[in-house]
Amino acid sequence: METILLLATTESDGTLAKPALEALAAALALGGELTVGLVGGLVQPGADQIAGCGAARFLGVVGDAFLQSRYATDAAAAEALCRAAGAAIVIAPATSRWSRVLPGVSYRLGGRVDTHSTNLAMQDGMPAVTRWFYRQRMEAVLTRSQRPWIVLLDGGCTEPWNGAVGTALLELVEVDAPTRTSVTGVQSPKSDEQTIRPDAKLLFVAGAGWTKKQSDGTVHAPEAESLILGFLQAAQASLGGSKSLVDLSGEGEAVLRCMTHLNQIGQTGATPRHPKGLSTCCHGEEPHVVGWRFVNQRRAINLDANCGWARGKADVLYVADAFEVMRHVNRLLLGTV
Ligand SMILES: Cc1cc2nc3c(=O)[nH]c(=O)nc-3n(C[C@H](O)[C@H](O)[C@H](O)COP(=O)(O)OP(=O)(O)OC[C@H]3O[C@@H](n4cnc5c(N)ncnc54)[C@H](O)[C@@H]3O)c2cc1C
Repeated sequence: METILLLATTESDGTLAKPALEALAAALALGGELTVGLVGGLVQPGADQIAGCGAARFLGVVGDAFLQSRYATDAAAAEALCRAAGAAIVIAPATSRWSRVLPGVSYRLGGRVDTHSTNLAMQDGMPAVTRWFYRQRMEAVLTRSQRPWIVLLDGGCTEPWNGAVGTALLELVEVDAPTRTSVTGVQSPKSDEQTIRPDAKLLFVAGAGWTKKQSDGTVHAPEAESLILGFLQAAQASLGGSKSLVDLSGEGEAVLRCMTHLNQIGQTGATPRHPKGLSTCCHGEEPHVVGWRFVNQRRAINLDANCGWARGKADVLYVADAFEVMRHVNRLLLGTV
């Protein structure tokens, strides 16, 4: 088996988060000699966290410049680690940070890169990558002869590595990465306003029906918003939207102020991985449902017994008024029933 480099960035406290541990498990499953390359403001805690993984070497690029995500410094760090390790296969978690720089790094190294990989395993004596094509409709297994071969592994596809901590002997790699970009701060919504939660057990999808006239002939947008937000908060679910609903929000018809195009699920949206999904007021048309590829158990609430979900796309379809159902579910969750 060929030599492998695992690339990972550390958190602000120097430790490794779940995506890095998943990529480590995938690298170990491949079976070649492993070098770990860590990048961050602090990396020793991360190296110690996985000291028992059996890696032959631990390399680190450390310094304030590598604490923040920035193209110039991240690409320089990754390139230096790849050159220092000289590995044929480079595995990294498909975080936004690595996804942004590693295609460019593979070009600098004269190698190749595959993004959105879901698995990496030996096949006929060769490492082979599994990934989906055509908006998750077809799964392919592919090998490449070019080296280094950089593989970005999607989150949630492998069980994270879990083993003994210890003290790792870290070899520091010096990187001179001048940059004109300085990070002056980070602006992000408060964590209880975050609606996209990739690790949530449940994906809650809201469709355009929430904005349509209901049986009393009127629209109930404020109630729709409070029911949806109330449920999200109580269940810590992740929020998805149909294209029709996110387009309405984008046009300033603020049905759900927290809903943006980032929430869109489907052919032209995201394909998240969650154990369960609940679709509400969404018709379940194919361009939407293709985004549910990796949702294991699917349930839908729709007034229309003939909606798309009824045609083999959901495990359970509740033919019911989603306003009524969610009112009741929220009362149950809050213990007021
Ligand atoms: C090239 C292409 C790409 C596309 N990509 C995407 C994509 O990525 N994602 C996506 O979502 N769509 C996509 N679409 C659009 C998709 O085909 C549908 O138009 C869209 O998903 C419909 O959204 P919806 O189901 O929310 O709205 P609607 O079709 O308007 O359905 C609303 C549903 O709400 C139900 N409803 C209303 N009130 C209630 C109530 N009180 N209780 C329960 N149910 C109720 C109605 O019965 C109805 O079924 C794409 C289309 C094309 C052509």
